[in-house]
Amino acid sequence: MAFDPSTVRGEFPILDQAVNGRPLVYLDNAATTQKPRAVLDASRNYYQRINANIHRGTHLLARAATESHEAARATVARHLNAAEPAEVIFTSGTTDSINLVASILSLAPGDEVLITTLEHHSNIVPWQMLCERSGAVLKVVPCLDDGTLDQAAFGNLLSDKTRITAFGWVSNAFGTGNPVLQMTAAAKAAGSLVLIDAAQAAPHMVIDVQALGADFLAYSGHKVYAPTGIGVLWGKRDVLDALPPWRGGGEMIKEVSFEKTTYNDLPFKYEAGTPNIEGAIALAAALEFVDGLGLESIAAHEQALIQRAADGLSSLPGTRLYGPADRIGALSFAVEGVHHYDLGTLIDQMGVAVRTGHHCCQPLMARFGITGTTRASFALYNTAEEVDALVLAVEKAVAMLR
Ligand code: PLP
Repeated sequence: MAFDPSTVRGEFPILDQAVNGRPLVYLDNAATTQKPRAVLDASRNYYQRINANIHRGTHLLARAATESHEAARATVARHLNAAEPAEVIFTSGTTDSINLVASILSLAPGDEVLITTLEHHSNIVPWQMLCERSGAVLKVVPCLDDGTLDQAAFGNLLSDKTRITAFGWVSNAFGTGNPVLQMTAAAKAAGSLVLIDAAQAAPHMVIDVQALGADFLAYSGHKVYAPTGIGVLWGKRDVLDALPPWRGGGEMIKEVSFEKTTYNDLPFKYEAGTPNIEGAIALAAALEFVDGLGLESIAAHEQALIQRAADGLSSLPGTRLYGPADRIGALSFAVEGVHHYDLGTLIDQMGVAVRTGHHCCQPLMARFGITGTTRASFALYNTAEEVDALVLAVEKAVAMLR
């Protein structure tokens, strides 16, 4: 299917409904995206035709489920341009993927972990926990007033003590896109491991892990049109091979005895227990769906929407937009004299779903001296009419609240 925003919308049954008596305008896509028929069908088909536990069965359904699960891994690997499917670890999401990496690294007192002010809590707290356990020190790259990272400070904070550098590709709060190629190259040159949080990049851009040169990359299925509860940790084979396992249990072992247990090879070494089989299969369907439409075309459509929203909202008196002009996926704003929570609640009554609050980025909000923003975030199925409905709803709500 070629990408035609007006027809592709019909693939998302949930969008065809009224909320509070108005047509649903869903602009909370950075929190989670809606699911196309192809994904809903893949989930239903799995449970109606295939469901069995994988890897250990000899019966037909067990073999079919195993084949579908491993085919899904191959699809994810292809989508990321990974060197091999074994570098793709299925997790429950970005949070789980980052916790996995933070749990298997062993650092020493005085080692440093480098993150940035733009991070989501899930790319902050696991590193703080690692630092608490190990005596390592957390360093943070500051953010400039335009919502971009201070790249000079980033360069200065990298040192021969930096063991891991973890940063988001795209900020969920401000839509800032970071120069990940340049940042990865600088961190690698300093001898650091690199983890990229691609939670907000995956829905909007082509990811080529071999071109990026990082060691780890994480994203969540549900932000890229797949179900919740499935996600990806991609890791370079030589790096993951050299690291210890994480959770213990079935599937991650070669042989177990009370005297000694040996661990399985990648990717199973990091996939203890029964995985989210249906989730992996539905994730592959979602990736095939976006690849079929073309991520570049999707991104161009979303960029036009975000620009229209930025123009419309900034024309309203007292509105401040956060983040750089070339924001990706999400647009955060505040209206003078109006609390974001009140604004979000009122525009919901007009059918417009946005997110308000700190967006799991409290340190970033503190940096800007605010408790939160109102955030509209965009997906492939959004339309210019919906952007206009957002702007009109905000205008009306502000008039009521002031
Ligand atoms: N990182 C970023 C940039 C995010 O936007 C999010 C979710 O909003 C996460 C990490 C956490 O993702 P999940 O809750 O799916 O694990």
